[in-house]
Amino acid sequence: MKSWSREDIRRVGHQVVDLVADHLSSLPDEPAFRPVPPDIIERVQSSPAPAHGASADEVLREFSETIAPYPFGNGHPRFWGWVNSPPAVMGVFADALAAAMNPSCAGGNHAAIYVERQVIQWFRDMLGFPDTSMGLLVSGGSMATLTALAVARHVKSGVNVRAKGLRETPAPFAFYMTTEGHTCARKAIELLGFGSESIRTIPTDDDYRMRVDALAAAIADDRARGVTPIAVVATAGTTNTGAIDDVEAIALVCRQHGIWLHVDAAYGGPAVLTAEYGSRLLRAFAHVDSVALDPHKWMFVPVEAGFVIVRDAEAMRAAFSLVPPYIRSAGSPTGVYGLPWFSEYGFQQTRGFRALKVWMTIKHAGLDGLKSAIEDNIALARYLAERIRTSLTLELIASGLSVVCFRYVGGGSAALQGCRDEPALATLNRAILDRLQLGGDVFITSTELKGRFVLRACVVNYRSTRDDIDRLVDAVCTIGSAVTESEL
Ligand SMILES: *Cc1c(COP(=O)(O)O)cnc(C)c1O
Repeated sequence: MKSWSREDIRRVGHQVVDLVADHLSSLPDEPAFRPVPPDIIERVQSSPAPAHGASADEVLREFSETIAPYPFGNGHPRFWGWVNSPPAVMGVFADALAAAMNPSCAGGNHAAIYVERQVIQWFRDMLGFPDTSMGLLVSGGSMATLTALAVARHVKSGVNVRAKGLRETPAPFAFYMTTEGHTCARKAIELLGFGSESIRTIPTDDDYRMRVDALAAAIADDRARGVTPIAVVATAGTTNTGAIDDVEAIALVCRQHGIWLHVDAAYGGPAVLTAEYGSRLLRAFAHVDSVALDPHKWMFVPVEAGFVIVRDAEAMRAAFSLVPPYIRSAGSPTGVYGLPWFSEYGFQQTRGFRALKVWMTIKHAGLDGLKSAIEDNIALARYLAERIRTSLTLELIASGLSVVCFRYVGGGSAALQGCRDEPALATLNRAILDRLQLGGDVFITSTELKGRFVLRACVVNYRSTRDDIDRLVDAVCTIGSAVTESEL
């Protein structure tokens, strides 16, 4: 390894900028998705680490030939799979700049720390959290949820969990979520040592929202049996259908029983910026102990960028703080060590400069820019829902925020029309989805709602237009009728 001259950095760096520009601007003319050809998979996977280095030009050539042509798909204007957005270009640049500075944001007295503190303050303001709360940028919604529930465990288990773990606990514990709650909560609860059997699955209403009466009943039942409730995981914008739980009503139940309330707003949180959802989400966040929100979803920050906020900063610190002697300082806010370290509020020690891409994306777009992108996405999803509603061959199953779930039901097959043959509909729609995804014109994914297989589009994409949505509807109908024909 040798040091690079300024000239070398410039020359190679300009090639990188060209690659970024070519990639992002040519995506609309490329397939929304294309699988990696088997020979490339083989070549990429089977090459051992090179004993000798190659020139930067050779390395970049290999990137542009074998890697760049096969993206996940989410930079494309007609990609609406899962909850993945195209990257904000300022965020792309920020990632390179952050890597050039390469700080550890465990803590200390350097600029990156104050950028992250600023970002945390912006999120406090956005979500209506007080100054006595603490936030942290993490890898994503999953890590945000794990972090928040670790604090809940510390506060609510009633034992010194840091010293004793859960092995001396007198009674079992319980968590409450719905089938629509994200699996990351289940993983977190398992990882925190409670076991998935501590999860009570609360039924949902017709709109896929947690039934608060059923929640209250489940808690009462646990209490009567001596079980200790730890937390309720509610969702503001479910992954499946964009449903927003009645967080205010859930908060009342939680307060009554002294239960931690975590809101998973990984996807839906940024809708707090919109006129339509803003006040409702703010009212919800006002009563909760912690929130997870993913800037790498509906704020278009390049992955990975998750955010967690905990109302009680001291509880968060008490759950995680373990300061090794080599970073212990007298605590002077002006010295080398600065303010209390971020590593006291979460699991990670060395932490990347994630904050810069969040900071630059927000600085560049402005909250009004993000607001209008989110509102446009909601409008596009409604346009899609409307086109499905008025279609003779499509059925709208559910929609909320910018998610639309639907399926193809038409095509003239008497077996399918009217009689609702669920297995046949699932088979048909699976076949449609396969062709759609590999066809490359549009990309959506699927899910299961109350046992039904459905196609699912989630518009978190500032590049999409109505024309793109029209192409989705056309593609599903065309493929649907072709698949139905071929089955007859
Ligand atoms: C994406 C998502 C998560 C998980 O977040 P990651 O960033 O993928 O770790 C959790 N909850 C909801 C509602 C999500 O949409």
